[in-house]
Amino acid sequence: ESGDRKLGIALLGLGDYATHQLAPALQETKHARLTGIVTGSPEKVPTWQEKYAIPDGNVYNYDNFDEIADNKDIDIVYVVTPTGLHDEFSIRAAKAGKHVISEKPMAPTVEDCTRMIEAAEKNDVTLQIGYRLHWEPYNLRLIEAMKTKEFGDWKSISATNASRMTNFTGLNKWRIGKELGIQGALYDLGVYCVQGQLYSAQARPLRVTANHSTERKDIFTEVPETYEWELEFEGGRKAAGMASYGKSGNWLKVETDQGMIELSPVYGYGGQKGSTPEGPMDFPHVNQQALQIDGQALAILKGEASKVPGEMGRRDIRVIRGIMEAADAGKPYEF
Ligand code: NDP
Repeated sequence: ESGDRKLGIALLGLGDYATHQLAPALQETKHARLTGIVTGSPEKVPTWQEKYAIPDGNVYNYDNFDEIADNKDIDIVYVVTPTGLHDEFSIRAAKAGKHVISEKPMAPTVEDCTRMIEAAEKNDVTLQIGYRLHWEPYNLRLIEAMKTKEFGDWKSISATNASRMTNFTGLNKWRIGKELGIQGALYDLGVYCVQGQLYSAQARPLRVTANHSTERKDIFTEVPETYEWELEFEGGRKAAGMASYGKSGNWLKVETDQGMIELSPVYGYGGQKGSTPEGPMDFPHVNQQALQIDGQALAILKGEASKVPGEMGRRDIRVIRGIMEAADAGKPYEF
């Protein structure tokens, strides 16, 4: 049975998320295991090798990374760099014949996403996005209810992902700069709202209106601190969104024919709370990253379609770019 084999994963970009979430999660996965690392920081290598028993032959840097093509221990490269570098590394991984998981948000532009998708197709590998909430029970409950129209159709949606960021030193700087191609909180946090809005609506938006604002102008010199937007769907129904590094809020609320489905908090690694018109939800804590990677590995092993393919990542970037356009132009953007 193909499902019994563990796929080998190399993490590429050993920053905060790879170190504190993905590597530990890979100690719990049933269908994948951490077999390699790719890093631009040689000083990180000894600790990783020791902690995770990674042999010398499975350690790469950004110059010799393409040699990974010859490494049978590695089936998947998981790209965990700043967002503006996902495309370059994902394409190199695909060309090396490895399956690719790219972290969210997929890439700065729709064109970048398309190049990633085409590289995967051309090299006959899969491309998936690190959308961990597709394995989180509270979000799954909402998705199921919206797919089956269990509480009727939806009337309005509200999604906010905002937290006041105060540490802008070191590597975190890429998040509020323009250089690595993204637009601050709108990409980093807003992609969760866009995801939530779309898996609630179960449809694509027709147009968007948006604005951006910056309270701490001394810090946010390159990208806005806050974006607010409203997606409009068929029938004039609307989904409000907000992403901010200055405000706070963490929710996804859907008004249905039969009452509210409300998740708050909703986007974290745990601690979700929520209710449906039937009452409170109550699910046990899960390791989202472990379930996500297992789900992604199983899709590969079984040759099944991914729940979180590159096309979904690109769909979301298209919405994010629309939000940017609408905010800059001060008028609706038509998709
Ligand atoms: P960090 O800044 O902590 O780490 C990024 C790592 O990328 C660095 O440590 C470095 O690793 C590598 N890197 C390669 N080139 C560069 C460069 N030019 N500048 C900076 N770093 C570089 O970021 P995070 O780990 O927080 O985020 C990484 C990605 O994961 C992002 O796309 C982010 O959106 C996503 N993410 C997803 C989360 C989720 O819940 N799904 C949560 C947090 C982040 P090295 O030194 O090994 O080369």
